[in-house]
Amino acid sequence: MFVDKTVIHVKAGDGGKGCASFRREKYIPKGGPDGGDGGDGGHIILETALGQQNLNDLMFNPRYEAERGVGGKGKSLNGRRGKNTTIRVPVGTVVRDMETGEVLVDLDAPKMSCIVARGGKGGRGNIHFASSTNRVPREYEPGTPGQERDLELELKTIADFGLVGYPNAGKSTLIGALSNAKPKTAPYPFTTRHPVIGVVDCEDMRRFSIADIPGLIDGASENVGLGHEFLRHIERTRVLIYVLDMAGIDGRDPLDDFAHLKVELEAYMKGITKRPSIIIANKMDVPEAEDNLKRLRRKVRKLEIFPVSASEGYGMEEFGEVLLAVLDRYEGPRQWS
Ligand code: GDP
Ligand code: MG
Repeated sequence: MFVDKTVIHVKAGDGGKGCASFRREKYIPKGGPDGGDGGDGGHIILETALGQQNLNDLMFNPRYEAERGVGGKGKSLNGRRGKNTTIRVPVGTVVRDMETGEVLVDLDAPKMSCIVARGGKGGRGNIHFASSTNRVPREYEPGTPGQERDLELELKTIADFGLVGYPNAGKSTLIGALSNAKPKTAPYPFTTRHPVIGVVDCEDMRRFSIADIPGLIDGASENVGLGHEFLRHIERTRVLIYVLDMAGIDGRDPLDDFAHLKVELEAYMKGITKRPSIIIANKMDVPEAEDNLKRLRRKVRKLEIFPVSASEGYGMEEFGEVLLAVLDRYEGPRQWS
């Protein structure tokens, strides 16, 4: 299962009650007011976490509360503030208020956080209500309620890179090879209609993800259902990787494949091919591939072309480095932690 849209209910902590109390001391029968303040209620906070890949957890646990503030006590003791509740969401989560439809925040960077429901204010104790005319104040404030609302979460970005290629170009092999190249890699397999997202952990604590998105086949742009699904996912990747079969098996020409891919993509969404893109020239272990690569390099001058053999592992380590460099180039160095 792959959940990329869900609704959660959040309730911040209520403010604690202020206290009404009076000093009791030996030999002083009527002490002054000494009721402390209630603590503020805890907030509900959304925070992006790199370990989160989707909204599955939130769909199964849709209700969140934060702790209420503790009430004030006598002897001028103020109540403790309620603890915040932090909900971890994937990078790329867009948060909307269900009622108004308003976008509250677009959590599009790692370690980003936002208060989505404010804790209530703690009430004041009767200490604050003493005056020259009111020496025995019995007033106190109850504290205000914590904010409560329904939020719609939608996952916009699903991966740094999206693979675009015809069936058998080697997309699955590529994800597998990258994942095997690095020991700490976790591929996330979903059913065939959903994207497979490979996460690659690098030595310097950096990490990137690649999505293999099913659904792009010749003429598929006319198939509205599948096309929309493909588009919805490819839109959520930062950089496109065209995967070309340079072996040109069955009389196919990788140059034609590339031209067709772009036409297909444009048919899905005008302008999408202008996004940051690179080309992976795959199956370079096959003898015919070398000639095709030369032709491709002559024809395509605007995009960088990286020759690899996903199945033989040729060029894969360099490819990983290249992908990190590409990310840096398009969005500046990222600090993963
Ligand atoms: P996908 O449909 O794009 O996911 O393609 P696959 O990864 O399933 O690969 C399709 C076929 O191409 C499989 O038989 C792979 O073994 C083969 N293949 C993938 N990469 C290479 C490669 O670098 N060289 C060769 N010779 N075959 C490859
Ligand atoms: Mg595949």
